[in-house]
Order: sequence, then structure tokens, then C-alpha cells
Amino acid sequence: MSVLVPPAALLGNDLEVPCADGRPRRYVNLDYAASTPVLAAVWEIVEAFVPWYSSVHRGTGAKSQISTAAYERAREVVAGFAGAPDGHVVFVRNTTEAVNLLAAALPPGTRVLSTPVEHHANMLPWRRHDVRVLPFTTSADELLEVAAKALPGTDLLAVTGASNVTGEVWPLRELASLAHAHGARLFVDAAQLAPHRALAMADDGVDHLALSGHKLYAPFGAGALVSREPLAGDPLLHGGGAIKLVTLDDVVWAEPPDRYEAGSPNVIGAVAFAAACEALQAIGMDAVADRERALSARLHSGLAAIDGLTQLALWPVHDDRVGVASFTLRGHTAGALAARLSDEYAIGVRHGCFCAHPLITRLLGVPEHESQRLQRELRAGREPELPGAVRASIGLGSTIEDVDALVGALTEISRRR
Ligand code: PMP
Repeated sequence: MSVLVPPAALLGNDLEVPCADGRPRRYVNLDYAASTPVLAAVWEIVEAFVPWYSSVHRGTGAKSQISTAAYERAREVVAGFAGAPDGHVVFVRNTTEAVNLLAAALPPGTRVLSTPVEHHANMLPWRRHDVRVLPFTTSADELLEVAAKALPGTDLLAVTGASNVTGEVWPLRELASLAHAHGARLFVDAAQLAPHRALAMADDGVDHLALSGHKLYAPFGAGALVSREPLAGDPLLHGGGAIKLVTLDDVVWAEPPDRYEAGSPNVIGAVAFAAACEALQAIGMDAVADRERALSARLHSGLAAIDGLTQLALWPVHDDRVGVASFTLRGHTAGALAARLSDEYAIGVRHGCFCAHPLITRLLGVPEHESQRLQRELRAGREPELPGAVRASIGLGSTIEDVDALVGALTEISRRR
């Protein structure tokens, strides 16, 4: 396998951490799906930019002009990265804010169709509208079938680009053409797709797309909502910078994108985000995807060979997955297993429900009465242990050694009494 990006290209990829036995071990980061390490190329650009950092849009000084140019250029870069060179970019904190922003901008009562496997970020914001949820499906074809039946009477279809729990890549082009055939728009939550696959909004027909810089090797917390047509409705945040005129009882909103970016923007975050997009483009998203596919195949086959380990899958025979694997191990709770991987092997994974409670409940087969009991306990202020799984996720700095370290550790743990 060609290693396209050596681990040294990511900051902190060579750290050692102490384990429970007091010995330091190389830290094995298998938690890319939560937040990625920072690309060294991004950090260099941020360092070079920081002396020029200033307020944007309102200042007349040279630094303000340079910062404004960098901020506006970042929009173009992110639009290009999303595959929508003519697209409209609104900078936000993250995918969660992007979805909330879109939900706030759509007219009240917008008819939204979505799925039960979404991250809560692509689920809860739609509840302010008229939302319907498709049934669970066992293949991409079945998803397209149920979507086609339910789409009449829909304004917006809101789906993930890739599952953050099980990794399946969704058939966006097909979903877009189905949605458009019924007069609906397509929104894609690309938080998990963007770091792993080339985005192609214009070619695929995606109308709106959200992504997060912190999952894309950029620090400082910028994200974006990219739309192929400018938004027109109300802003999520009300305040300075988003207006043309304010009177004591009225407001004339500015045109987009300013209307949706009230308050002082995260200039360094946007610069870092754009630098990450450019760094990924320089590597080539197809090369990124090829490398990850090879590592993922090794991860999935290694996990499959472990006695008592069950991998979670939304669509069991779907062959296009990003580098995410969630699993349970017989005899171990998710929390205890994740803690053991960290304490004994310096392996960083994630455990729990991954902000996708309905999906995890379904995949783990949690019975309805148990689900009800948990709700009662939580409402009563108690803290019952929620069902969950362990998730390993890979990215640009991951290596064969990382994958083998996890598989080896889980094999050892599974063999202990
Ligand atoms: N959607 C998906 C599929 C995700 O994986 C995540 C992050 N776990 C989000 C949305 C939310 O992203 P953020 O935390 O950056 O808002």
C-alpha cells in the first residue's frame, strides 16, 4: 500500500502516553471520526497568517484588508472543495450550527423528509418544521425505494453523506435526482464524508451541504454551510454585521452571506479550514480514499476474526464505507472496553451512542421496554448506563501498525477470562 501522507504530516502523530502499568506507549489514534489531528501544512499557513490577522469587513487598515481578503478567499476554497465552485458559503462553527442555520432559514412548516440513522445534528433541528422520518433500511437500494415512495409532498430531503456509526457512503447522486424529480431539494450532512471522499455537489445535484473543519485536519472550529443557491430566510443568529439597518422596532437584514454571519467571524478558523481543504486537494481525495479503503479492509477483516466481536452495519453488504468500524465484544461493556484499550494499550477510540441514539438502539437490538425504562430513569434524574458500542475510525495519519495494534489488543482481551 502506498503511504500517501506520512504520519509526520500531522501534528502530534508521534506522541507517547503513559499506560496503567506506568510505561509509556506510542499513542494509537483511532478516533478520527470525532476530531482529526491538525495537518502540519495547515499549521504552517496559520502561523504565517497570524501576524496579519485582524477584524474583517469593517476596518480600512491594511491588516483588516488582508484579513478580509483571506476570509473571502476561504469561502471560494471551501466552495471548490465541496464541488460547487459557484456555491454560496456561510461560515459557522461546525456541522451542527450549519444544520440549525439552514433549518432557521427555511420557511416555517417546510416539509422535511429524513432518515432514522442520522446524527442528532441532522435530526433535532428539523423538528421545528414538518418532518417525516423514513423507516430503517437494509440496503442502499431499499433506501432509494422507500425514499421514492415518501418523497411526494416533500420540500427538503435531509440525509447523511456517510454514517458516523457504521461508515456506509450514501448514494447521493441517486437521492438528488429522486428528490429533484419530486420538486424537493437535497441537504447532505457531510461531516463524515468530507474527510474521506471527494465532494461533488454540482455534479451530484446536492443543494445544501454541511461540513466541519475540526474533522478535516483544521483547528480553531470553523465549519460551513454550502448552498448552490443563496439562502433567503431568517438568520439563526441576530446581531451586528448581519443587518443593513436597525430601527427601534424593525430590522432590514443584509444580503447573504453576511446575513447569516452575525458577530465577529472566526477568521483564523476560516483560514485554517480553507488551508485544510487545499492540503487535501493537493494530496488528492481519490488517493485519500484509496488508502483508507485498503486500511479499512484490513480493519474490518481483522475485527471479523475476533471471537465474540460483533461489527455493526447499517447495510450489511454495502461495499463503500469510510474508515469507521463500530463493534461490541461479548462480556464487555463499551465503556469498559474503551477504557481498557486506552489504559493498557494507549489506543484512543470512542464509545457510546455516537450522537445517533435511534440508530444505536436499532443496531444493538435494544427492546422497546428497555428503551422506555431508560427514558423513565433519565427523566427521574438518575443516570442509567446507556447501551453503546466502541468505534474505531481512521484517517490521514493512520497506518497498518495502528490497525494491527487494535486488532491485536482486542484479540488478547477477547481471550482473557
Ligand atoms: N453529523 C455527523 C455524521 C457527525 O459525525 C457529526 C460529528 N460527530 C456531526 C454531524 C456534528 O458535527 P459537529 O460536532 O462538528 O457539529
